[in-house]
Amino acid sequence: MQSVPIAQIAVLVVAGGLSLSLFLARLWKILFQIRHARAEPGYFIGHIGARIGTFVWEVALQAKVIRGRPAVGLAHALVFWGFCAFAVVTLNHFAGGFGIPFLDRDSLAGSTYYWFAFFWALLVAVAIAGLTFRRFVLRPKWLEPISYESGLIAFLIFTLMATFAATAWIDEGTAMWRVNWWLHTAALLVFLPLIPNTKHLHLLLSPFTIFLKRSKFAQIPPLSGDEDFGLVSGKDVTQPVALQAFSCVECGRCMEHCPANNTGKELNPKLIALGMRSYLNEYGVGSESPIVGATISQQALFQCTTCGACEYVCPVGIEHMPMIIGLRRGEVNTGRWEDEHGTKLFLNLERNGNAMGFSASEREKFIARQQLPVFDGSQEYCLWLGCMGAYDPQGREIVSAFAEVMGRLGTSFGVLRKERCTGDPARRLGNDLVFGQLAEANIASLKQSGAKKLVSICPHCVRTIAEDWREFGADVEIEHHSEFLARHRDRIPHSGSNERVVFHDPCYLGRYRGVYDEPRQVIATWAKVVDPPRARERSFCCGAGGGLAFLGEEKGQRVSQTRARELAATGAGVVGVACPFCNSMFRDALQSVSPNPPQLLDIAQIAARGWGIADATPRGSPADRGIV
Ligand code: SF4
Ligand code: SF4
Repeated sequence: MQSVPIAQIAVLVVAGGLSLSLFLARLWKILFQIRHARAEPGYFIGHIGARIGTFVWEVALQAKVIRGRPAVGLAHALVFWGFCAFAVVTLNHFAGGFGIPFLDRDSLAGSTYYWFAFFWALLVAVAIAGLTFRRFVLRPKWLEPISYESGLIAFLIFTLMATFAATAWIDEGTAMWRVNWWLHTAALLVFLPLIPNTKHLHLLLSPFTIFLKRSKFAQIPPLSGDEDFGLVSGKDVTQPVALQAFSCVECGRCMEHCPANNTGKELNPKLIALGMRSYLNEYGVGSESPIVGATISQQALFQCTTCGACEYVCPVGIEHMPMIIGLRRGEVNTGRWEDEHGTKLFLNLERNGNAMGFSASEREKFIARQQLPVFDGSQEYCLWLGCMGAYDPQGREIVSAFAEVMGRLGTSFGVLRKERCTGDPARRLGNDLVFGQLAEANIASLKQSGAKKLVSICPHCVRTIAEDWREFGADVEIEHHSEFLARHRDRIPHSGSNERVVFHDPCYLGRYRGVYDEPRQVIATWAKVVDPPRARERSFCCGAGGGLAFLGEEKGQRVSQTRARELAATGAGVVGVACPFCNSMFRDALQSVSPNPPQLLDIAQIAARGWGIADATPRGSPADRGIV
C-alpha cells in the first residue's frame, strides 16, 4: 500500500460519493420505470443461442454500427472498445487514489496493460475528435438540434484519454503529475453521473436492449384481452418498450432512412422513441394520462408506412414497429383517431371483406373470366389472391401472368372460392377487432378447403398470413411468388434480352422476410438486373404500407414519387417490382416524374416473357378479364 495524503482520500470519498450517488439516483429511477412497466404478453426469452450471436455481432464486434455507417461506425466502435480496455485502468486509477493500485507499471503485466491502454487512448482520442468534428462542424441534419451535452461528453472523453496518455511523458510524483492525476479524476467524476442523465445511458442499457429484443423483426405483440386497448397511457407501457425508450442514443439513423421524414412529413421515428422516453420521465409508467398528444403526435403516428427501415437500422435494438402500432391501437380503440378514409377502410373490410369495398361477386367474376381453377384439395398449391390480386386491375394482370407461368411449369393450383382480406391494413393501423374477424374467417375457410401450401403475389399477405395469423392459431405454409419462381428458374426459358431492369425491393419482402436474391434471379432469366442507390436492406419504401394506400392522397412530397425518381434515374428501361402495392404506387408516380417513363413489370410478368407472353395477359382479352 502506498502512502497518500489524507486530504486526497477525503476529497475522493466526498466527491466520489457525490458522483456515485447522482449516478445511482438517476439510474434507480430509470430501472424503477422499466421494472414497474407491465410484462408484455407473448414475450419470451427463447432462442438463447441466436441472442448470444446477435450480442456478439452487434455489441462486442459493433458490426451493425460499422456496416451502417462505415467511417462513423468504426470511430464509434473504437470508442466502445477503448472504453472496455479502460475499465481496468479506471478501477486502478481510483484504487491508486486510495494508495492500493493493482497495476504496477514496473511489472511485466502492469507495463503490458499500460501500453495496451495507451494505444487505445490514442485511438479513442482521434475517434472522438472526428465524431465531434462531424457533429459540430459537418452537422448532418439527423443529428440536429445541436446537443451541447454531447459536446461536454466528448470533451470529457478526450480529457480522459489525453490525461492518461500524458502519463507516458510525466514523471510520477511530480507536481505536473499530480495536476494531471486530478484532471483525470475530475473528468471521471463529472462523467459518471452524466451517463444515466444523458443519451450515454445507452452505454449501460443497450447491451441488454439488444440481447432482449423480440425474437422476430417488426413483431406486433398480442393484446392481453378485451381490456387491453394498446399503448394508451403509462399503465400500458410494457417492459421492452420502456427499456428501449431509455436506450435511444439519438443517432438519427432511423430518421435518415425514414421515407416519411425524407419527404417532409412530421413523422420522425427518433422522436417516437424519445417521445416515449419523455413521457416516462414526465408522467411515469403508472400514469393514466394519454401518451399521444402529450409527447407523441397523432398525425406523425399515422404517417408511418410500417416500412421497418427505422427498426432495421437502429444500432441499439429499438423496435419502432411494436411501439408505433401499439400507439395506433390505442388511438383507434379509444376512438381518438378520427379519419374519414380510415373509417371507410374499416367499414369496407367489415362489410365487404376487402379494402376497396368491392362486392365479393367481382372476385368471382374475375376468377370465372380468367378460368382460374378453384382449389378442391387435389392441387399442390392454393393461390392466394389478396385484395390487390382479386380487385385491382394491375394486380389481376400479375395474378394472370403468374397463373400462366404456374401452368407452363406444370404446377397444379387453385384459388379459394371465398377469400377475405388478410387484415393487413387493419392490423397495421391498429384495428385488432377487424383484423381478428378477418383472420378467423380466413383461417376457417382455409381449414375447410384443406389447403396445405399457399403462394401469393403480395408480400403483405405473405407476412400477415405467416406471422400475424399465428395469434389466432394458424400455422400456414406460405411463400411469395418470387420464391416459387426462383426455385423453378432453371425451367423458365431464358430469353436473353439486352434490357436493363432496375429492381425495387418491397419492404415486406426484403426487410420483413429477408428475400432479396430470389426476385433478382427471376429477372436474370430475361434481362440484366440493376440496383438503385438504395437497394436490398436499405430499400426506400413505395409509400403504400401500413394501410396508407387506403388513407387518401398523401400530402406534400410523395414517397412514391421520390422513389420513382430514383428508379427512373438509373436509366433502366424497366422497373421490376414484386408487390402489387408497389406496382400500384409506381403506376402514376413513374408517369409523373419522367416524360419517357420506364415500363413497370412484376416479376411474374417478367417470367411470363420466357414463354413469349409479353403482355402478361394470358387468358382472354382485357375486357373479358374485367379490366378497364
Ligand atoms: S431510435 Fe435507434 S436509430 Fe433512432 S435515433 Fe434512437 S438509437 Fe438511433
Ligand atoms: S417504419 Fe418506415 S415510415 Fe414508419 S417510422 Fe419507420 S422508417 Fe418511418
